[in-house]
Amino acid sequence: MDFPLLKSIISQNKSFIITSHVNPDADAIGSELALYFILKKLNKEVRVINHSQTPSFLSFLDTNNVIEKFDAEKHEEMILRADGIIVLDLNQSNRLVSMEKSFCESKAIKVCIDHHQDPGDFADHYFIDTNVSATGELIYDFVEMTNIVEFDYDIALQIYAAIMTDTGSFKYDRTTPKVHHIAAHLLELGVNPTYVFDRIYDQAKFGKIKLLGSSLTSIELFRSGQIAVMVITQKMLQETETLEADIDGFVNFCLAIENVKIGLLFIELKNGLKISLRSKGKIPVNKLAAEFGGGGHINAAGTRLFDTSINDIKSKVIKSAEKYLSEEN
Ligand code: 5GP
Ligand code: MN
Repeated sequence: MDFPLLKSIISQNKSFIITSHVNPDADAIGSELALYFILKKLNKEVRVINHSQTPSFLSFLDTNNVIEKFDAEKHEEMILRADGIIVLDLNQSNRLVSMEKSFCESKAIKVCIDHHQDPGDFADHYFIDTNVSATGELIYDFVEMTNIVEFDYDIALQIYAAIMTDTGSFKYDRTTPKVHHIAAHLLELGVNPTYVFDRIYDQAKFGKIKLLGSSLTSIELFRSGQIAVMVITQKMLQETETLEADIDGFVNFCLAIENVKIGLLFIELKNGLKISLRSKGKIPVNKLAAEFGGGGHINAAGTRLFDTSINDIKSKVIKSAEKYLSEEN
């Protein structure tokens, strides 16, 4: 990875915008804030701007309210004029949603740091490694390789949250020895793993747990029990006073069922729908997602559709999913 190039892009420019994907997860927020602290240490002008509001369970990472929700009136000019824009944890510009237009129109030098497959053509420089567990791991590697700044607790906390969540708390495939070495270093810098886990996973609103209950009840099995399908409707979200961000992680319960190889979660949005796809082994749900305009990783992918309903699309996705079952191991 040409991190010296990234270091020189940073040193040769003064003002930066950092951003990430719609409905940001802890890898998105943690990578953004880690990079924010790095750039601040270098006395750069930095703004972190996202399409979505930071979900409340991640607000403990942004204690100084650094992250701003995109507002065209306030931010468009800033984005157009910035020296550099660094997008993290995404590789398709449409995942910037309302910010995509200003991003594309900006003359800034555009950098993408990410760990997803099949990047789109939207940045000037790509720092992509699909073998790492998280974008946060890439930020760690960058600092470690270039010594651009010294690690400190603030940076360590963000990177730990990013890696912990994107490895499913150190259990997914890319939980390598290197990941554990990094985690050990982050703990030495003062990160308290019990605290981070508690804030992210054990401080749920009651409504979220109730929503989990009705989501689990919605699960149906197809294809001899190899495909599990969960459905979350607007009505379920309204009744439990929850938001899309609260659904994070639910789809994994589909894979917790014996014999299930593919888990599909259909979420009814106010405008359109979202599908989350998960798989075991070598079943490439990123390819399945791509059939429906999305993408992601081999075992975790997603897509958003705007001109259809769950009823219209569900059986089509299940039918397409069937053909990937044979690719298991
Ligand atoms: P999740 O289901 O947790 O929202 O997303 C899982 C993974 O799927 C994400 O890490 C991302 O790689 C990918 N993904 C989710 N939604 C989209 C989407 O709308 N478009 C694309 N290209 N990838 C997505
Ligand atoms: Mn990630």
